[in-house]
Amino acid sequence: NGDMAMYKAKEAGRNRVEFYNHSMTEYVQERVALTADLRRALEETELELYFQPVIDLSCGRCVGAEVLLRWQHPKRGFIPPDKFISLAEESNLIVPLGEWVLQQSCMQMQQWIQNGVPLQFLAVNVSGKQVLQTDFVERVAAIFAETGCEPQRITLELTESFVMHQSEFAIAQLQALRELGVGIAIDDFGTGYSSLSYLKRLPITRLKLDRSFVSEIPHETNDIEIARAILKLGDAVNLRVIAEGVETAEQHEFLLQEGCAFSQGYLYAKPMPIDAMQTYISTNLCVNSH
Ligand code: C2E
Ligand code: MG
Ligand code: MG
Ligand code: MG
Repeated sequence: NGDMAMYKAKEAGRNRVEFYNHSMTEYVQERVALTADLRRALEETELELYFQPVIDLSCGRCVGAEVLLRWQHPKRGFIPPDKFISLAEESNLIVPLGEWVLQQSCMQMQQWIQNGVPLQFLAVNVSGKQVLQTDFVERVAAIFAETGCEPQRITLELTESFVMHQSEFAIAQLQALRELGVGIAIDDFGTGYSSLSYLKRLPITRLKLDRSFVSEIPHETNDIEIARAILKLGDAVNLRVIAEGVETAEQHEFLLQEGCAFSQGYLYAKPMPIDAMQTYISTNLCVNSH
C-alpha cells in the first residue's frame, strides 16, 4: 500500500500532495472507526467519570469537583477526552453522551450526600451542541427530577468560544437553565476573543481562568498581569473565578493574595475515579464554607 502510494506520488511528480492525501484517507478512516467504537462505548461500560477536586481558597479545602470523562478502550487502551470529545461532537453522539455524564454526576452527588460527604457542587462540561438542542432544558430538568439532585449543586461549564458566538436562542437556553437553579461557568476564560460586553448580557455565575495564564506564574510577568486583570474583572461583574491548572505552591499563594475564589490543579489533586474521590473528600472537605 505504501509502495503503491509512493509509485503514484512519483508518477504524479507531486510527492507531498499524494502522501498527504494518502494519510488524510487513513485519518478519516481512523476517525470513522473510533466514532463507531464510541457509540458502543456509551452502551457498554468503557466510559468512566473522573473527578478533580476544586479548592475554596478562603477555606483551603475541597468544596466541589469537576467531572472529567475517561474512555478505556478495550483494544487501544486509554483515550484522552481531547481525542474523542471532538469525534462525539461531529457525530452528534455528544448529545446522549453528555446527557449520560450529567445523569451520572447527579446520581454521584446524591450518593455522596447520602454517604455524609456532601460536595457543594459538581462542575459538568457541556458542549454547545447539547445546549442548542431544543429540548435540552427539559431534559436537564428531568434528570434533576429523576435523581433528586438539587440544580444548585450542579454547574455547567461551557467554553468561551461557544458562549462568544451565541445566538439569541442560546442565550434564552442559558437563561432557562439559570432559572432552574444550575450554575453556569465559562471554561477556558481568556483564550477566546473575549468581548467583555457579553459578560453582562449572559446569565453566568463563574469564570474559569484558563490554565495557560496560570502555568507560567510567577515567571511570566504578562501572565501575572492577565491573571490579575481577569480576577479584577470577575470582581467588577460579580463573578467568582476558578483558576485552572494550579501546579505550584507559588501559584497557589499568588491566587490567594489576589483574592481568587477557587483553585483547581495537580498541586491539590489529579482527576481520580469515584472511590479515590470519596476517600479524598472524606478527609479534605471544607466544612465551614458557603
Ligand atoms: P477542561 O474542561 O478545561 O478540563 C481541564 C483539563 O485540565 C482536564 O483535562 C484536566 O485533567 C486538566 N488539568 C487539571 N489540572 C491540571 C494541572 O494542574 N496541570 C495540567 N497540565 N492539566 C490539568 P482532561 O481531563 O484531559 O480534559 C480535557 C478537556 O476535555 C476538558 O477541558 C473538557 O473540555 C473536555 N471534557 C472532558 N470531559 C468532558 C465531558 O464530559 N463533556 C465534554 N463536553 N467535554 C469534556
Ligand atoms: Mg471544564
Ligand atoms: Mg477548563
Ligand atoms: Mg483550560
